[in-house]
Amino acid sequence: MHLFVIDHPYHYEAENLCRVFFPFDKVITLHSEAEAEEPQNRTVYTALRNTGAPYYVRIEDETGVTERTGGPETEEEYGMMALLFDALQAHTGKTPRWGMLTGIHPIKLLRQLTEKFGEVEAGRLFREKYFVSEEKAAIAERTLRTQTPVTMDVHENDYSLYISVPFCPTRCAYCSFVSQSVEKTKKQIPVYHKLLMEEITATAAIAKDLGLTLRSVYVGGGTPTTFDAPQLSEMIRTVRASFDMTQCEEFTVEAGRPDTIDRAKLEALLSGGVTRISINPQTLQDNVLENIGRRHTAQQTVDAFRLAREVGFDNINMDLIVGLPGDTFESFCDTIEKVLELDPENVTVHSLALKRSSFITQSGEVNQAHADALLADHMMAYAERRLTESGFEPYYLYRQSRMAGNLENTGWAKPGFVCAYNIFTMDETETVLACGAGGVSKLKDPYSEELCRIFNFKYSYEYISRYEEILERKGGIAEKYEQFRKRIHQIHQSSGTDQ
Ligand code: SF4
Repeated sequence: MHLFVIDHPYHYEAENLCRVFFPFDKVITLHSEAEAEEPQNRTVYTALRNTGAPYYVRIEDETGVTERTGGPETEEEYGMMALLFDALQAHTGKTPRWGMLTGIHPIKLLRQLTEKFGEVEAGRLFREKYFVSEEKAAIAERTLRTQTPVTMDVHENDYSLYISVPFCPTRCAYCSFVSQSVEKTKKQIPVYHKLLMEEITATAAIAKDLGLTLRSVYVGGGTPTTFDAPQLSEMIRTVRASFDMTQCEEFTVEAGRPDTIDRAKLEALLSGGVTRISINPQTLQDNVLENIGRRHTAQQTVDAFRLAREVGFDNINMDLIVGLPGDTFESFCDTIEKVLELDPENVTVHSLALKRSSFITQSGEVNQAHADALLADHMMAYAERRLTESGFEPYYLYRQSRMAGNLENTGWAKPGFVCAYNIFTMDETETVLACGAGGVSKLKDPYSEELCRIFNFKYSYEYISRYEEILERKGGIAEKYEQFRKRIHQIHQSSGTDQ
């Protein structure tokens, strides 16, 4: 489609809103009519005018033309996007469950609204200003309530550590991470492991110099258990030897794929002090596993879970995905019931991010997309109901673009088993220092929403060949903290609390 963004700067929001309604259109954004070359199947025209009705939207495609004028609003961006949202709804007849929210952190927005206006007014704004449906507003409020005790307990020097192991046994068909299959990268793993240990040690030195307090460790990827048992032990030993762990109550390792788990690795993790692991079925249907290119069976997941219990893990997460190819409503429900029988402490329900290429025929595309969205929606509602009935509460939630049914990913926990790291990273409450390929350190100013990102190289081969540059970039951590601390000092001085 052509998206015209005339005389306003809100192209990013406009593009995201268009994708909510037309998830399979390629959005070509233009800033003047003269730029339009090849005619497209659809045109969305948005303009900010200085005279008369300031906002103007026109949508045109084979189904007809919809026009709207409106404004002005006190908040210009909101006014423009609300008008576009209204026009898109009228044109398509669709009512997105998350209303006009397109960001990935809806709970963070709800928290900010709650801090500013109180719980009742925040709930009203969520529903009436942003048009969030009753059921999504309700789950957002439940999630915020579960995570508030954790976010309230963050102190200004707290941080978490993220370690990335970007290798997997094979690459899943839907994967959009930087992870690479072990078959292709076997030789890289020992070199990567060695450099990762060095980076962990260097990062610990930076945190120590800054007097930061480590609260949680999360090893993700990829599949960290592609490392063998001695490599896992060495990684944990390196963390423990270099960081002050006295305030760190949570140490998660994603054991991810059951085909990477064995007793030796589980024992290495547990004896090293890992407190939480993930064993991720995604589905417990063998035909669906085959469709997504995971070379293991549902039984292997069940066996890996039982083995982890036998070894002694008392905090296990299981990831599931709604909207996988070949999964039906009945087979998804069967997966949920089998997972509940295993009785994990956490269940994370993801929505598959849809790709335009996943549809075979152009002619059936829209109907197929609609059918898939409805199915994903039913699956998600079933998961929500059964997890609630089984004593779980939602504790973190985030969204991605092009998710099946325009839904969300939600982490559910039994009481006392929330994973603080997941909350910190999604709510962007505290600093996360990251090590490894694809890692992004997020430095959080404790007294504002300012967040500074420092990127490691994405792929393992770049990480290995340009490792020195990563260490140089990490020099920026101390610099940024210097700025934060000046501000903190001023805040303490003006409130008379500086010692
Ligand atoms: S296990 Fe996860 S990271 Fe690895 S290939 Fe599959 S989706 Fe990607």
